[in-house]
Amino acid sequence: MQARNVIIIGSGPAGLTAAIYTARANLAPLVIEGEPSSTSDQPGGQLMLTTEVENFPGFPEGIMGPDLMARFREQAVRFGADILTEKVSRVDFSSRPFGVWVGDPQAAEPTYRAHAVIVSTGARALMLGLESEQRLLGHGLSTCATCDGFFFREHEIAVVGGGDSALEEALFLTKFATKVTIIHRREELRASKIMQERAFANPKIEFLWNHVVDDIVGEQSVEGVRVRNVLTDEASTLGVTGVFVAIGHQPNTDLFKGQLHMEDSGYLVTGPGTATNVDGVFACGDVQDHTYRQAITAAGSGCMAAIDTERWLEAAAHAAIG
Ligand code: NAP
Repeated sequence: MQARNVIIIGSGPAGLTAAIYTARANLAPLVIEGEPSSTSDQPGGQLMLTTEVENFPGFPEGIMGPDLMARFREQAVRFGADILTEKVSRVDFSSRPFGVWVGDPQAAEPTYRAHAVIVSTGARALMLGLESEQRLLGHGLSTCATCDGFFFREHEIAVVGGGDSALEEALFLTKFATKVTIIHRREELRASKIMQERAFANPKIEFLWNHVVDDIVGEQSVEGVRVRNVLTDEASTLGVTGVFVAIGHQPNTDLFKGQLHMEDSGYLVTGPGTATNVDGVFACGDVQDHTYRQAITAAGSGCMAAIDTERWLEAAAHAAIG
């Protein structure tokens, strides 16, 4: 099997920017973009689950997340990136060229080999860890207002969390719902001031401060949320038919355990630049960034990973000739 110059795993803003840059550097990248799903580890990443993106430079009117990702993808394809709609099931970074499997992870031979790999697998939405979440996900419980908001016309909805995601989901849901209750475990929001102002000004949004969710009620579909006041320990049930969980994210790094250095939280450790601990493997975007986590910073780090990869491949080729 002939090894590719570079394989890019993941197709959010980081991966597709890396694809645009490596394609324009004539490295004929292969992007393994993931498979469609209702979570953020799908082609296009988390922006596929977002509504309006208002802070991506160059779009003064704003742009919908999926539209922005379609443009990234189109640009990568235009410069010759190959895109494969599959999920990587295993990697082997112990020897070069590196091995990358799609499909059966037990297969003796990797599906692809590559001299360099760029990891841009992003992060996914965290859940509360309740048994009822498994049962009710897709039946009134969601992590994506853009995907599911439409189903909640004239319903009363709860959103869990106090960050920008929670407020963004809540604001979007007011287009459909009669009332949106934001359940937050403290009495101060983590979200940015501008989002707070918008949420406070919206007459359809109410806040349930100092409350946690003990359970989501309902067998076939959501019928309510059992909440508890953390100050008084008083329990009560909120009669809602929709629940959106928006409490943060977890990096998609299971594939790389034991091979790439990661923090206790699972985020990949990079540096200098986008280098990982394995020579020839680079990482960019939310999979290695728990601080900024923006589309623009992910795209910027994708560009850095492409340039680091290009330079690394050039140096490796020189070393091989020398
Ligand atoms: P986040 O900022 O980490 O906020 C998570 C929220 O969920 C916090 O309020 C947290 O409570 C709460 N939480 C966490 N675990 C919980 C649990 N087990 N039970 C109940 N509540 C829990 O995450 P995010 O809102 O997803 O935002 C992530 C990053 O993306 C941020 O940097 C944000 O600014 C950015 N973002 C920006 C936009 C925008 O600009 N339009 C939109 C979305 C996200 P505590 O506050 O008590 O910790």
